[in-house]
Amino acid sequence: MKRILVTGGAGFIGSHLCEYILEQGNEVIALDNFFTGSKRNVVHLLSNPYFELVRQDIIMPVFMEVDQIYNLACPASPIHYQQNAIKTIKTSVMGSINLLGLAKRLNAPILQASTSEVYGDPEVHPQTEEYWGNVNPLGPRSCYDEGKRCAESLFVNYHEQNNVKIKIARIFNTYGPRMMPNDGRVVSNFIIQALKNEDITIYGDGKQTRSFQYVDDLVVGLVKMMNSDDSVTGPINIGNGNEFSIIELAQRVIALTGSSSALKFLPLPTDDPIQRQPDTRKAQEILGWEAEIQLEQGLRKTIAYYQQMQQDGLL
Ligand code: NAD
Ligand code: UDP
Repeated sequence: MKRILVTGGAGFIGSHLCEYILEQGNEVIALDNFFTGSKRNVVHLLSNPYFELVRQDIIMPVFMEVDQIYNLACPASPIHYQQNAIKTIKTSVMGSINLLGLAKRLNAPILQASTSEVYGDPEVHPQTEEYWGNVNPLGPRSCYDEGKRCAESLFVNYHEQNNVKIKIARIFNTYGPRMMPNDGRVVSNFIIQALKNEDITIYGDGKQTRSFQYVDDLVVGLVKMMNSDDSVTGPINIGNGNEFSIIELAQRVIALTGSSSALKFLPLPTDDPIQRQPDTRKAQEILGWEAEIQLEQGLRKTIAYYQQMQQDGLL
């Protein structure tokens, strides 16, 4: 049994990760400041004596004894990370420094939840880990993109200077149950709009693409990477290679929910990437991992989650 720290453990991905590593027979400490996370995401774990929930901000030093560290703390939705851009940068930079310091003292492996956003609006398609990216350092997404890029640099330098065991996972668009209804990301927005028979908000012409990964696939990939050989530092793309346009996503959500929603076209946000698809050969070759859950299957499970919320009067 290992004692494992998950920062951002009360968030969307973090809560699924906590659940999975508890099921594997480990002890879990979820650390969260509840900015975009919620106790509701982990309430079912609170009665498990091997689960602890700690309210803390990672921009403050973290003192505890653990065997592994997953650093997921950071708002991930554009509307939330842009709400307090400076705080988003502090979370990625100061938070990483604090957790890398902890990993160094404990000689514990640390996994960074990096992102496909380090590729910005990519000119290379699909995106390989070797691609340096095309990020606007001044635009509204830069607090997140550059924060995550700086975090990667910190991880690499702690590894090279201090032999910290690092794992950089570049996560591509992930969806599933427990994304907050006000999260603002496309899958949760579309499903909730469809369930309420409200207009589906398409930003731009809807021809921009994303490759959507179901959260259960991601969690398996992250755990495989954490438990890989120390020589595996990454970065490794963790995503589903199937690429869809935003219009296609809207059509599928409408079909699966039987909704009467119409499409409403709104302006494309500044610096919104036009296309995104992971090259996942490294994940396959190095981790023996590949996403397995297809969009329709994952959407059905996610729709069922929000339908339950709607019945409970929470939407
Ligand atoms: P989320 O917003 O649901 O979860 C983030 C969690 O971190 C929340 O519980 C939030 O309260 C917590 N948090 C934020 N700032 C914190 C701070 N300073 N101190 C402590 N806790 C803090 O988002 P998510 O989708 O679950 O994303 C989790 C991680 O994965 C993030 O680091 C994100 O950048 C990364 N990621 C997510 C995606 C995706 O598609 N969901 C894609 C790429 C990368
Ligand atoms: N998007 C949209 N309608 C929405 C929310 C998002 O058309 O209600 C678009 C957004 O402009 C982007 C894509 O969907 O092109 C994915 O957006 P999301 O915020 O989910 O993720 P990210 O842009 O960070 O990949």
